[in-house]
Amino acid sequence: MKALLRILVLLFTVSLTAQNTYLHCGKLIDTKSGKVLSKKTVVVSGDKIISVENGYVNPKNSEDTVVDLKSKTVMPGLIDMHVHIEGETSPTRYLERFTKNNADVAFVSVEIAKRTLMAGFTTVRDLGGSGVNVALRNAINKGTVSGPRIFTAEKAIGTTGGHADPTNGMRKDLMGDPGPAEGVINGIEDARKAVRQRYKNGADLIKITATGGVLSVAKNGQNAQFTQEEVNEIVKTAKEYGMVVAAHAHGKEGMKRAVKAGVQTIEHGSFMDKEIATLMKQNSAYLVPTLSAGRYVEEKAKIPNYYPAVILPKITSTMAVLDETFKMVISENVPIAFGTDAGVFPHGENAKEFAYMVEAGWTPMFSIQSATITNAKLLDMENQLGQIKEGFLADIIAVDEDPIKNISTMENAIFVMKNGVIYKQ
Ligand SMILES: [Zn+2]
Repeated sequence: MKALLRILVLLFTVSLTAQNTYLHCGKLIDTKSGKVLSKKTVVVSGDKIISVENGYVNPKNSEDTVVDLKSKTVMPGLIDMHVHIEGETSPTRYLERFTKNNADVAFVSVEIAKRTLMAGFTTVRDLGGSGVNVALRNAINKGTVSGPRIFTAEKAIGTTGGHADPTNGMRKDLMGDPGPAEGVINGIEDARKAVRQRYKNGADLIKITATGGVLSVAKNGQNAQFTQEEVNEIVKTAKEYGMVVAAHAHGKEGMKRAVKAGVQTIEHGSFMDKEIATLMKQNSAYLVPTLSAGRYVEEKAKIPNYYPAVILPKITSTMAVLDETFKMVISENVPIAFGTDAGVFPHGENAKEFAYMVEAGWTPMFSIQSATITNAKLLDMENQLGQIKEGFLADIIAVDEDPIKNISTMENAIFVMKNGVIYKQ
């Protein structure tokens, strides 16, 4: 009891003498109401927002600091639900599977993490890598390296020859027969084991490749790649371990099976139809559009040999339907979470997704809400992230202009604070 009292007194003394930061915000985006407020002061102490005041309030203590953002627009730190933080696109990407050790990947990922944070993304969901993503998350949490808060799926789960089979396209003697430990399953026993292995390896959530994918060295970009029983088992086991499931899906059948099984998000959703849109609403499943990935891949496909030949027809057929799909998705009001697939395009350019969303037909405020308050809810962090509110974690960014008037200003974060620490000013 005495010891507890001493700790309390100590904590109280520390909070009295701790330095506070006062952010004078010309404009402040209230992600809850969807309104742009003006002339506010956000007071940060330690890693938390302790108050949001009207007008420009000056500190009472001389050791406190003021950050002048009177000509800027301030908002919560951005959240990207779909990145691959271990690497990024290049014409030698496929060869690198044979030349890079995990230690090489780790050093690259440290630089990528920093670049992502500097772009205003204070939280990301990593949807599949080798396991370096788990070590990176831990190093960032400890403060060893700077980067966004990471929720990671570790290694994605697929089936033999499926989008997440790590030996796709390899020489036969190198292919081997990867099993659930490497995230390749066939049957429900394997499904269970692969999820439990991810849990053991330190994953926060599960990623599955429910259909073929565009960039894997395989012919089909749309086919369903799990039986209904397999995907049911994955979702059920993940739930037992307190994890949600994100499902990569382009084609209809695999998408339908994943939504029926109860996945939290559908990633890409390229060939979604009205029936699946309705199913998603009924199951409260969110679509992560990853428009940035499509745009970038379509552009790079024009460069000879940038991608292996087997991939090119898949790019053409997928890009051909996207406009129609997203028109339908908007008119059907499918729940949307913000996510880009960064890594398929250079990291740090995640914020281009905002302009792409607005071009597709969503409002600027909707796009910002999807990257803040909506994503915070899906990460089960709605009481800590996604809003600038008393008691929330101090993840705060600022851009030059009002994004409601010019959405491309999102691509230039001029101020970045995460957990109360200023990384960019
Ligand atoms: Zn991806």
